[in-house]
Amino acid sequence: MAVEMLRFIAKYLPAILPFAFSLLSERIHAFIHRFTYKSVSAPKNVVVLGGSFAGAWLALRLAESLPTGYKVVLVEKNSHFNYVFNFPRYSVLQHREQRAFIPYDGLMKKAPKGVFERVQDVAVEVRDGEIELASGVCVPYEYLAVATGVRQSGPAKLLASEKSEACAELRTLQGKIQGAKRIAIVGGGPVGVEITADIKTFYPEKTVILIHSRSQLLSNFGKRLHEHVMGKMNDIGVEVLLGERPNLPQVENSEAAELVFKGGRVEHFDLVARDPLQGKEKIIPCTGQTPNSSIIENFLPTAISPKNGQILVKSTLQVHSGPKCGTAFENIFSLGDVAETGGPKMGSAAFVQSGIVEKNILALIHGKELSEYKPMSVEGILKLTLGKDNYVVYAQHEDGSDFLMPGKDSNVDLAVAKAWKTFGADFKDSDV
Ligand SMILES: Cc1cc2nc3c(=O)[nH]c(=O)nc-3n(C[C@H](O)[C@H](O)[C@H](O)COP(=O)(O)OP(=O)(O)OC[C@H]3O[C@@H](n4cnc5c(N)ncnc54)[C@H](O)[C@@H]3O)c2cc1C
Repeated sequence: MAVEMLRFIAKYLPAILPFAFSLLSERIHAFIHRFTYKSVSAPKNVVVLGGSFAGAWLALRLAESLPTGYKVVLVEKNSHFNYVFNFPRYSVLQHREQRAFIPYDGLMKKAPKGVFERVQDVAVEVRDGEIELASGVCVPYEYLAVATGVRQSGPAKLLASEKSEACAELRTLQGKIQGAKRIAIVGGGPVGVEITADIKTFYPEKTVILIHSRSQLLSNFGKRLHEHVMGKMNDIGVEVLLGERPNLPQVENSEAAELVFKGGRVEHFDLVARDPLQGKEKIIPCTGQTPNSSIIENFLPTAISPKNGQILVKSTLQVHSGPKCGTAFENIFSLGDVAETGGPKMGSAAFVQSGIVEKNILALIHGKELSEYKPMSVEGILKLTLGKDNYVVYAQHEDGSDFLMPGKDSNVDLAVAKAWKTFGADFKDSDV
């Protein structure tokens, strides 16, 4: 393990050190900005669409750096930041789901007055110089960043926008899990693996079967991760069926069903849940995800990839109008899961991209040179929970080598308290 750790440090330190220095420099600039930014009566808008990992970070960074005369307007449909990393855990564990919804109020508490506005609404259309919201309001923009992510079925994403209804969605799944004796999880992607291990370790008396269509769990990661996860599933008493693609009946997700396996064998389960993230890509969110790119469909139809529905961007993360024309829209950016950036579809990549978009908006304002986004393998590091107190960290490198480090964490809420702190919110208020 020590050798593995040393390899990890040697591999990632050269990437992490400059990044740490740039974060420190950002903090110093943010401090100075608090005293130099002046609120004016009609500032130009930098509109950020979507307030999750990509958009919230971008809005925060802009609020700490935009010059006088500009302000950031964050348009987000959800009442609270959805901390999706804990959704699989809170689909199983009861009475804690409210902790996954972090208030936005504290995010900008240190930003200077007049630099930030949050609008809870749904953007329905992007036009040249303005966006239209579902409420009918039009918001003009000087610069625009589209960070609208992807749609996925629960528990990866929820339907509700208001915290109370979103919590109710998670409670419904908790109730179904609690009431079932035999549970089948179909799909051995990251969410399937996490939820399977959680059900079995929080409810050891239940029969839990994980069914995967390929010969390797987490098919898009390395074999070593598969072997490690298989070992853990065996230890906790989960049966794993590989190479099985049972006929799924036309029932809603998370319902009782008969599954028909190879050779016609039929088995009844009280609850069948599908992994919405089992995948065909190397990175976490995969099959079943739809990029939320339709808002630019009328204005920039060729900027949407016909292959995957993602928004096409240049390495500066400026939207471009497709391989044929290739024109960049200088003042429109896209980042995070909705954009075809070449980087991993991960929160950490969204964070790195938010730094590039912030720098480039400031560069355009000040007439400076633009920066390019170059994805790094460190952005694709996966932390997978394997039941109530085990996890594994895994990374694949460009040269084909990989890194695997198992660990123990008895904190059932995982890292959510840290996320509350980052958002300037008090975790003590999380159960209110
Ligand atoms: C269960 C799960 C576990 C994960 N674990 C990890 C992990 O351990 N580490 C990691 O790095 N990554 C992880 N990921 C991946 C990570 O969550 C995503 O890469 C990240 O959420 C992408 O952020 P985003 O801001 O691009 O998009 P999203 O998170 O999809 O957010 C898009 C936002 O835009 C809003 N929105 C969409 N359309 C509109 C509209 N028209 N108007 C207004 N608002 C709109 C949505 O409400 C949403 O808040 C995990 C993902 C899941 C689902």
